[in-house]
Amino acid sequence: MSAERDEIAVVGAGLAGCLLACYLARRGYPVALYERRPDPRTGRVERGRSINLALSERGLDALRRIGLAEQVMADALPMRGRMIHPVAGEPQFQSYSGSGDRAINSISRGALNNALLDAAAALPGVRIAFDHRLVGLDPTSGEMTFETPQGKVAATASVVLGADGAGSAVRGQLLGYGVLTESLDFLDYGYKELTIPPLGGDFALDPSALHIWPRGTSMMIALPNPDRSFTCTLFWPTHGTASFASLGSPAAIERHFATHYPDLIPLAPNLVDDYQHNPVGVLGTVRCAPWQVAGKVALLGDAAHAIVPFYGQGANCAMEDVVELDRCLDECDDDWSAALPLYQRRRQDNAEAIARMALANFVEMRDKVASPVFQTRKRVEHALERALPGRYVSQYELVSFSTTPYAQVRRRVRRQYAVVGAVAAGGLALLVGAVGAAIGRGRRG
Ligand SMILES: Cc1cc2nc3c(=O)[nH]c(=O)nc-3n(C[C@H](O)[C@H](O)[C@H](O)COP(=O)(O)OP(=O)(O)OC[C@H]3O[C@@H](n4cnc5c(N)ncnc54)[C@H](O)[C@@H]3O)c2cc1C
Repeated sequence: MSAERDEIAVVGAGLAGCLLACYLARRGYPVALYERRPDPRTGRVERGRSINLALSERGLDALRRIGLAEQVMADALPMRGRMIHPVAGEPQFQSYSGSGDRAINSISRGALNNALLDAAAALPGVRIAFDHRLVGLDPTSGEMTFETPQGKVAATASVVLGADGAGSAVRGQLLGYGVLTESLDFLDYGYKELTIPPLGGDFALDPSALHIWPRGTSMMIALPNPDRSFTCTLFWPTHGTASFASLGSPAAIERHFATHYPDLIPLAPNLVDDYQHNPVGVLGTVRCAPWQVAGKVALLGDAAHAIVPFYGQGANCAMEDVVELDRCLDECDDDWSAALPLYQRRRQDNAEAIARMALANFVEMRDKVASPVFQTRKRVEHALERALPGRYVSQYELVSFSTTPYAQVRRRVRRQYAVVGAVAAGGLALLVGAVGAAIGRGRRG
């Protein structure tokens, strides 16, 4: 079957690109997967660059469809809720779900990427070219130019799919040809990683939670790793007081952490070294349109819609793009000129919805989670979820534990909040009845 199909080029062998290669090869396409880096399965890990991420239902669903979920989950660490670390006092646990048993999963981004690379490489028809950085693309002919250690290399494909991340060169080429517009909104915040090593051979903190140190205008989080360490990520302002720019000397670093993150000090012996040597990453939202040109070139994952990481959905959303594109190819009998516009129509609103929810969640994580009002609201939400199973579902559950389209999640949650707000004064019995009826009406409407 593959001999009858033209070769598809996928640019970028990250999470979306490798997954896409697997899905396309399964459809019988010969796939050329181009990656600017050397093979990560043989190379060195970059210092201080997001070594773990939270995988939830959307990513798992995409992996399940190609039989990879079990293998990936073997090394995952389930996190059932948030552990909030105040400046003084004991940490408090907040469950992610009303039932208390649903979890997002901490996994190594590198291990997930390698598992997807192995899966793609094992499929007949997939050819992986490492050390190939795309530097030129003609969107009408599909002609590409790559920089390689041996010099410039040209290649052509009937369809070119850009899965080359937030700084996408494919997107840049489309921009250069004047067939795409983009907006990049950077936050005044950056991120930096620190490590909490194992303590006496075990986890230094509870590994079944995502740890948060909310500090109002900034925060730190920590996710567990299979080697019993934790990767902490600081999300701090890049400039101004108490920012990455203002904190340089070992004494100032130690003083700052002792004041704002006192429980970290005994757990992070390499704190100052990590802080001084790990890079500060940028955080932002990428929007562009269109996502496809003439059924010949398209963008997926961060290349089309990079978002801030505060909902833990960037990779999940990228993997969901692949599932949707596969579905569109099914529905369009593999006519790419119909499938790519359909993919764009179905995904664009959803990407915008999660981009907005991710931005809003930054305020929730760094500030609101610590407030008694927020904690009461969460308890009420969980009570409603238990009282109205499947009818009242929190935004967090819909985003993380379902594949309900993101745009639909926003609409449904707005409806739920409106009803809860309107009847809150009337007591729980009245509330339960009203929410149930309103949601029923919303579903029919
Ligand atoms: C601090 C942080 C925490 C995060 N936490 C989470 C989380 O908990 N959960 C979650 O779901 N998401 C999370 N994310 C987001 C997630 O990492 C991204 O959304 C995801 O990696 C996007 O996958 P991608 O394949 O689209 O892009 P990438 O993973 O960026 O892959 C792009 C690939 O393209 C290659 N490439 C780039 N340019 C070229 C070129 N010119 N030619 C050839 N190849 C090229 C790159 O080398 C790379 O391999 C987080 C992100 C950050 C920054």
